[in-house]
Amino acid sequence: MNRKYRKTVIAGNWKMNMLASTVKPFMEELKANMPKVRPCEVVLCAPAVIVPTLLKAGKDCKVAAGAQDVSKYEKGAYTGEVSASQLADIGVKYCIVGHSERREYHGEDDMLVNAKAKALLEKGIVPIICVGESLEQREKDLTLEYIAYQIKAALNGIDATQVRRCVIAYEPIWAIGTGRTASAQQAQEVCEHIRAVIRGIYGARPARAVSILYGGSMNAKNAAELLAMPDIDGGLIGGASLKPVDFAAIVAATDQE
Ligand code: PEP
Repeated sequence: MNRKYRKTVIAGNWKMNMLASTVKPFMEELKANMPKVRPCEVVLCAPAVIVPTLLKAGKDCKVAAGAQDVSKYEKGAYTGEVSASQLADIGVKYCIVGHSERREYHGEDDMLVNAKAKALLEKGIVPIICVGESLEQREKDLTLEYIAYQIKAALNGIDATQVRRCVIAYEPIWAIGTGRTASAQQAQEVCEHIRAVIRGIYGARPARAVSILYGGSMNAKNAAELLAMPDIDGGLIGGASLKPVDFAAIVAATDQE
């Protein structure tokens, strides 16, 4: 982490879990376990129908509400879609785009991820842009090349002012929901590379302002080591974000120099 230049962010991704009726007890338990002094920005990304409940319950606990997806379209005849204006209108501050599960199960490609990130930025919502290699790509030593490609594609047409507001999440696909975490060194290597790619496009100042998160089986035990890395500015957390005590422990693990 480097608090001098950028924000530390711990974002939970509830995926298709939780019910509106379980948000309040979750938040009460989270609040009871949170560190008294909040060392970072805390976000929970919920399914769209649960976001309004989360917005209300999150206020008391100083947790920002995030969404997990957005339409690339502004408005109109797109049944089932939710627009960036609709998210912004109710107070959503963050939204995940390009999660590997959306890429894999919903055919989202880099162009679509780019269009969604731009739609969010236009409405003042921070896109949490996910990138990550498969196990096969890692084993073939293609990780850095592939990540550079994904970053360039996701940021295409986004200017230097806007890029400072983006959050990038490096999520190796082989580490998501598998219990297999990238080592702190592996995660740092890729996060440092992501910053170098951003520096190559926008220059040093925007690059050092972008928060880069690690995601992939981050938990209460391994968080401190990952977060101690200089280019890892937080985490995107799936499984452990469903357990208030563990999620609060990850937040507490950001309290380090
Ligand atoms: C995720 O889905 O973004 C994620 C990182 O999941 P998990 O923490 O469960 O690996």
